[in-house]
Amino acid sequence: MRRLIAAFTAVLAAIGIFLIAAQPAAAADVNLALTATASASYTSPWENVAAINDGIDPPNSNDTQNRRWGTWPNTGEQWALLTWAQAQTLTSAQIYFFDDGGGVRVPASWRLQRWTGSAYADIPGSYPTSVNAYNTVTFSAAVNTTRLRVLIQSGSASVGLLEVKAIGQGTQQPGTWNPPANLVTPLNEVWQHQESTYPNLYGFRNYGWDQIMANRGSINYCVRWDSGATVTASQRDQIHATLARQFKKWMDVMAGHNNWPYADVPLKVVGWAVRDRAQLQWSDTSVDIYVNDIRENAPQCAQACGRFFNQSGNYPNCPGGISHHYDMSLWLTAGMGGGAGGDWGQRLGSEYYMSNLNTNNMHILLHEIGHSFGLDDFYDWTPTGQCCFLMKAGSASSITDFDAWMFRDWWRHLKSRYGY
Ligand SMILES: [Zn+2]
Repeated sequence: MRRLIAAFTAVLAAIGIFLIAAQPAAAADVNLALTATASASYTSPWENVAAINDGIDPPNSNDTQNRRWGTWPNTGEQWALLTWAQAQTLTSAQIYFFDDGGGVRVPASWRLQRWTGSAYADIPGSYPTSVNAYNTVTFSAAVNTTRLRVLIQSGSASVGLLEVKAIGQGTQQPGTWNPPANLVTPLNEVWQHQESTYPNLYGFRNYGWDQIMANRGSINYCVRWDSGATVTASQRDQIHATLARQFKKWMDVMAGHNNWPYADVPLKVVGWAVRDRAQLQWSDTSVDIYVNDIRENAPQCAQACGRFFNQSGNYPNCPGGISHHYDMSLWLTAGMGGGAGGDWGQRLGSEYYMSNLNTNNMHILLHEIGHSFGLDDFYDWTPTGQCCFLMKAGSASSITDFDAWMFRDWWRHLKSRYGY
C-alpha cells in the first residue's frame, strides 16, 4: 500500500550524520576505487562519471542498463581520474571499456598515471584494449598515490569507461554488492526509478537505516492501539513477539552482507498509547503507557520520545530519557484494511494483526516495514524479468530474493553516510 513518508523535509535537512566507526577488518586485496572520487576531462551530459567506481560489474562493453562514462562527441586525448583523500598503495588495476560499436569505441591506446605531488607520471605496464571484459594491468612495483588517472588516446571515435577497479591492500573492506546476474538490470532500474521519483532521496535522513544506525544496532517501537478493544498481558507479549519476528525477517537479509555491522537488530517495544488505560489489562511497568494523547485521531506515545519529532536523535524532554525513546510506531487501527508505512512506522488493521499473530509471514506488515526502509511500491510498472515480489502488493506474501536485493541496495547507496 501507498508509502507515506511524511513531508518534514525542512526539518530533515538540518539533522546530522551519524558516524560510526567501521569494524576493524583484516588487510586484504580490495577495490580501493570504491572509496575514491571520480572526475573526467569531459562527460557527455547524458552519461555520468560516477559510473566508473560504483562497484557495478558491467554485463558487456555496450551496457545500456547501468550508468556509463563517455566523451562523445569529443575525441583525442581524454582522461578519467580517481582521487583519494589519503594516499593509497595500489598493486594492479582493472579497466572495463565502454564500446557501443558506433560513436564510442575502445581507445587506440591508453595508460595509467600516478600523481607525484606535482605532476602525473606514467605507470609502466602493458595496456590491453579488450571489449566485454576487464583489462588488467599488474604493476611491477606497488604504486603509492592519491590519484590514479586513466589517460586515453582515442581512435576516430569517442571513448568511455564502464568501471575502474584500483586494487590494493586495504583494511577498510569496501564490501561487496554481488546480486545474481539476472537481478542486476532490474535492481538498477529500481534504483534509477527511485532517484527520479524522489528528488530528496539522499537528503532524507529518517529511514529505518538511519534509525538503526543512530541506536547502534537496535530499534524501539511504540504501539498505537487505535481500537476500543481490550488487550491482555499475554496478547501484548504476543503482539511484541510477532512484531520482532517479522522485523527480523528483513534484518536477516542484511546479516553478513556488504559490511552491514549487525548480526541481529534487537527490537524493543518501549511504549503503548491508548485512549483509556482500562483497555490495557496489565499492571506491570514493562512498557511506558500513554493515555489519550491524540494525534491524527489516534492515540500516540509522547512526541518528546518519538524519533519522528526529534530527528536530531536527542530526547531531552522524554520521561525516562533516550532509552525510552521510540523510533517507529506500530499503529493498529480497528476496521482498517490494507496498510501504510513510512519513516514513522507501520499502520495496519488491528483485527488483521491479532488474527495473524502466529502467521509465519504477516505480509502486509512485512510490506509496510519495507516502506520504512525506503522501498517503493510498484503499482504502475514492473522491473525487467520480475513478476512477483512482496513490494509489488498482492503478488507475493513473503520477502523474495528480489525484495532482499532491493533492500540491500538501499544499504549499498546509503552506507557511506555512516562511515562504511
Ligand atoms: Zn505499499
